[in-house]
Amino acid sequence: MYESYWQKKGDETTVVIPGWQFMSYFSDATRLCWFLEPEFAKQIVRLHNVVGNAVTENRHIVVGTGSTQLFQAALYALSPCAEAEPISVVSAAPYYSSYPLITDCLKSRLYKWAGDARSFSKNGPYIELVTSPNNPDGFARRSVVNGSEGILIHDLAYYWPQYTPISSPANYDLMLFTVSKSTGHAGMRIGWALVKDEDVARKMTKYIEINTIGVSKDSQVRAAKVLKVISDNSEGPNEGDSFFEFSYRVMAKRWKQLREAVQQSGLFSVSDFPPQLCMFLNRVFEPQPAFAWIKCEGDIEDCESFLRGKKILTRGGKHFGVSPKYVRISMLDRDKNYETFVRRLSTIRS
Ligand code: PMP
Repeated sequence: MYESYWQKKGDETTVVIPGWQFMSYFSDATRLCWFLEPEFAKQIVRLHNVVGNAVTENRHIVVGTGSTQLFQAALYALSPCAEAEPISVVSAAPYYSSYPLITDCLKSRLYKWAGDARSFSKNGPYIELVTSPNNPDGFARRSVVNGSEGILIHDLAYYWPQYTPISSPANYDLMLFTVSKSTGHAGMRIGWALVKDEDVARKMTKYIEINTIGVSKDSQVRAAKVLKVISDNSEGPNEGDSFFEFSYRVMAKRWKQLREAVQQSGLFSVSDFPPQLCMFLNRVFEPQPAFAWIKCEGDIEDCESFLRGKKILTRGGKHFGVSPKYVRISMLDRDKNYETFVRRLSTIRS
């Protein structure tokens, strides 16, 4: 859905890189995160200040190949290395389906997936993933485990004004962001972490050094340009044409269409979200998540198979740790595909 905005911007975000540039592993050897491009770091801080969605003062920035790599770096950095047993990693269901896969992929002796945070009651240290707004269901979240030895990772991939009202700058110890969901450039594979603790930031940097010896400079330079254009347009005289105005309007339209389709069909339900004031857009609105989290009502037990039969491809609830009566559908596809999806959904009858 973001493609058409960037097409309209034409050459504003075009980046040309001569063959002799960005050849080194290093970006700035004096920095803690030595492979972070200084211009990208500058634009990250600027954009968070413009939008007001995260505190950047006294934070270390660590860049990653997507926030996916940073999540792994965070697990590595936060796991106690002297424990006999791997530390438990939990998240409240429904949780982002990649968390268990990534956590257990290498069967690490450092950390281990321990499932739904709401039913976690083991004593001792644990890592809780807090995704807010949440993938798949779109709700704003806080940590749920009531333990004293919890270490939190806040995945804020969707804490941007096209998806949810920005009520205040997030101010957590370890926050993950990504261009995939903020600007739509998933293919750049760029994410960043804002990290309070210097030691944790150092260990995350070490992990990325061991894993990929840094992060593509070409991608960082391109990401810096895209963030700069977003900030320039948000602050400039043509604010109405800004990236977040555009994407807010597309999401608002799509959610309206989705709710109408759900109502017409009568077979499904979607959640309502409480409206809140967005300090950035200066208006009150209901969250309009990047995913529709749909429940099949009545006696349909496997909603994913049911919808596949109606030519709608979804991801079923079991991937997210809940009932197969639920499915997740992306709200971010190109206009044409989205229109096809809502049309098909609206005509399904029991
Ligand atoms: N966290 C969440 C909650 C996500 O939904 C996604 C993308 N689906 C990611 C992280 C991964 O982002 P990236 O493309 O930056 O690796």
